[in-house]
Amino acid sequence: MSAITHARLRRLAAECRLALLGVTTAEPFDGLAELLVERIRTGHMDGLDWFTEERARFSADPRNLHPTARSIVSVGLPYWQPDVAPPDDGVPRGRISRYAWGRDYHKTLKTRMRDLHARLEEELGRPIEARALVDTARIVDRAAAARSGLGWYGKNTMILVPGHGSWVMLGELVLDIEVEPLPALRPKCGRCTRCLDACPTGALVDAYRLHTPRCISYLTIELRGPIPRDLRPLMGSWVFGCDICQEVCPYTGAAAPSDDPAVQPERIEHAFPSLHWLLTMSEEEFRTVYRGRAVLRAKRGGLARNAAVALGNIGSDADLGLLEEVAATHDIPLVRGHAAWAMARIDAAATAPILRRLHDREPDPAVRAEIAATLNAPPPARCRDAA
Ligand code: SF4
Ligand code: SF4
Repeated sequence: MSAITHARLRRLAAECRLALLGVTTAEPFDGLAELLVERIRTGHMDGLDWFTEERARFSADPRNLHPTARSIVSVGLPYWQPDVAPPDDGVPRGRISRYAWGRDYHKTLKTRMRDLHARLEEELGRPIEARALVDTARIVDRAAAARSGLGWYGKNTMILVPGHGSWVMLGELVLDIEVEPLPALRPKCGRCTRCLDACPTGALVDAYRLHTPRCISYLTIELRGPIPRDLRPLMGSWVFGCDICQEVCPYTGAAAPSDDPAVQPERIEHAFPSLHWLLTMSEEEFRTVYRGRAVLRAKRGGLARNAAVALGNIGSDADLGLLEEVAATHDIPLVRGHAAWAMARIDAAATAPILRRLHDREPDPAVRAEIAATLNAPPPARCRDAA
């Protein structure tokens, strides 16, 4: 028997600024462990080394989190904002995925779920065993959201929530009380393939199937070493994450705007940072500007590496001086190598003599190899008109 009605649960969640929720049981997710193990074994999750087969099996059964788990309240934080745009100032700017514009959603969601937990205990007049989870390998957020009726799986592998599309951050409160589950929603992609067609790197290899090593989100956030050279020209100006397969989705196009301050960018660097600044920022500047934000996860070197690729993709001759300076002097070798690549991407013929000089002076063997590879096989020239 349900310990609380859905109406009461929704009211309590709304008081905690959790506007969206679904409910499911804590039963194992049918077929999920097998699906995840198959994805791992076929290489679709390569690079996510922490997500092992053992983790996959663990995450498919919520009772592994606590043996008395009975219900999962799946919560959503909408974050669509239509009015934030890059300034028209001629500065080459990178793009940050929308979910990272505001304060770190892991902290925001966890704080609100803990608040909901406390209110539930007060409401029911007894202690409740609970786990608040956001983006961990201990449960699959999207599987919980789909089974709980919060949203449905799109072919882009995102959860689409009615009225919000996929612009929703997900979390779960796993409880030892029984709450009547809500019915799962019917998927509505139909014959649409817009997200698969729009993905610039071909990471969506099939409907509902993401090949992580090709995804710009993985390349810009999780990958620590050099970005594969064949993928760099496909990454556009993304420096942290990628929203393309969400932006093209007709359901996200109809999303309601959020006025939640927690998801708003507070300065332009939180959404559209200058690429020159990313390439030259100090550790202190990086930590100050992105304090309390998900962008910190990429680390300064990763963000500067991504900025070099982005500037190669969208920059012009006017950016070559800065790139040469970065290629010669940046304190992180990975950034020097990617800046050299970016020079050739903008103008391989004009920059070849400079790259040869940089190669001969470069102390780091990995950077020398990167520059040599660039000289031997320059990246494809950009179509200036399209940049
Ligand atoms: Fe493709 Fe970008 Fe979507 Fe990744 S996030 S699947 S790269 S469109
Ligand atoms: Fe589904 Fe089309 Fe949206 Fe992709 S773009 S998730 S196929 S509705």
